[in-house]
Amino acid sequence: MSQWISTQKGSHLRARRTRDTAPEIALRRAVHALGLRFRLHVSVLPRCTPDFVLPRWRVAVFVDGCYWHGCPMHSPREFKGPNADRWKQKIDTNRTRDRRHDAELAAAGWRVVRIWECEIKQNVGAAADRVKSTTESPD
Ligand SMILES: [Zn+2]
Repeated sequence: MSQWISTQKGSHLRARRTRDTAPEIALRRAVHALGLRFRLHVSVLPRCTPDFVLPRWRVAVFVDGCYWHGCPMHSPREFKGPNADRWKQKIDTNRTRDRRHDAELAAAGWRVVRIWECEIKQNVGAAADRVKSTTESPD
């Protein structure tokens, strides 16, 4: 296995905050304002911790970072630089794990809402409405 090569961009990304990011907090506020109550960072399945859950409706919400989870709008199509293959592999791994978690959660009776960071930045109200409409849908 080759080593990660330290780059300025890489050190910035490694220092990212994975919880309580600004988009997560903005979404939580908007969801709360709609009168929905939730719990943060509950491990609902082994190694699967949604950003928040609405236990009453068995809804699990994930805020997915555009870069790390491969947003179609914002994740790079091509990776550049000395770690290109590793970035690509890492994001592919994340996406595969996301899909697996979706399937496992559905099998356990949870409804999963995934919201891209960019959706929240663009229109947090619409993102919160998506959570609310999931609580209102019949199954
Ligand atoms: Zn995006």
